[in-house]
Amino acid sequence: MSPLRDLRDRIDEVNEQILDLLSARGEIVLEIARDKGVRGLDGYDPSREERMLAELTSDLRGPFAAAQIRDVFRTIFRISLELQDVEHQAGLHVRRRDLVPEGGILVGAVPVGGPEPVLFAGPCSVETPEQMDAVGAYLAAMPGLVVLRAGAFKPRTNPASFQGLREKGLRILKDTADRHGLATVTEVLDVATLPIVAEHTDMLQIGARNMYNTELLKAVSRLDKPVLLKRGFMATIQEWLLSAEYILSGGNESVVLCERGIRTFEPSTRNTFDVAAIPLMKGETSLPVIADVSHALGRKDLLLPCSRAALAAGADGLMIETHPTPDQALSDGFQQLDLSDFGELVQQLGWSVGDAGTGGRFPAEPLVRAGRKLS
Ligand code: PEP
Ligand code: MN
Repeated sequence: MSPLRDLRDRIDEVNEQILDLLSARGEIVLEIARDKGVRGLDGYDPSREERMLAELTSDLRGPFAAAQIRDVFRTIFRISLELQDVEHQAGLHVRRRDLVPEGGILVGAVPVGGPEPVLFAGPCSVETPEQMDAVGAYLAAMPGLVVLRAGAFKPRTNPASFQGLREKGLRILKDTADRHGLATVTEVLDVATLPIVAEHTDMLQIGARNMYNTELLKAVSRLDKPVLLKRGFMATIQEWLLSAEYILSGGNESVVLCERGIRTFEPSTRNTFDVAAIPLMKGETSLPVIADVSHALGRKDLLLPCSRAALAAGADGLMIETHPTPDQALSDGFQQLDLSDFGELVQQLGWSVGDAGTGGRFPAEPLVRAGRKLS
């Protein structure tokens, strides 16, 4: 055998040994991570890494310099941390593929995440019984899957703005829904009001401002009630997933995610509608994902193309704000469609609207638009 062949064989052998040792080291790293996980400790320990590097370079035996040995071991430390992260991510509840029951998550009698997309529609805020009744009657006449939305506890940026009718608003919402046979979603702002809100609605909304409220997430995780978890306006996909993890790991697996736009430098729309988040989240988790185009855009003229984009991207539903008289609305009047424009929008999207809402202007048969049937 030529000396070169022989030397290469020996290198191959050493490579195998390094690989075996690296694999053995990886297994130990995972064991340490599991042990630390049980005790609530972080996997990353920079001082321990520094001590190991000092030890490894204190007694150099071969041709490599200390800096090179440090380089190699820093790489080993980094990939070890990645290994822990991969295992941690794979073990999350939110990654399970069997989270949604066959047919979807039931909100009242409305399945979300089933074969048909769901329209979450209604005014920004509950204002009067008459206002809610007009919207309720209109939505009840629609043949597609509809959930009535309206806020009773409102998270307003300005404390001088309308804060919602609170308990009275909840009663009006429930009364409207009961009379028209509609399922409801409304926002819960804090742990203190959670019991009363939960009593009056089929689904609890955690709003963008509360996505990071871990105590509220834990509190809803203990309830047997579906949760609509909106994305915070500064939240990464990973942070949003981990917020959902709070709810799932606490025992409540009925979570629907809602992309509602994120804050960027662009002022043309109220937020920047992150349409990519929809297929992204659907790849990361099996939970249903809907798009709140009203709050994402903050303007009416872009609702149709962006709703189409959301559905084409795989959204399981849309949230659209509608109000009988948007000009007189106590919140978000500028972005709410009146009932006639709302009817037109949903008709253009392919949902059909019955006689009660529009005097029969729209065909009773569902249309097929935007590549998806929405009946
Ligand atoms: C809402 O849906 O009423 C609302 C306040 O939305 P967001 O939390 O997305 O701002
Ligand atoms: Mn609103």
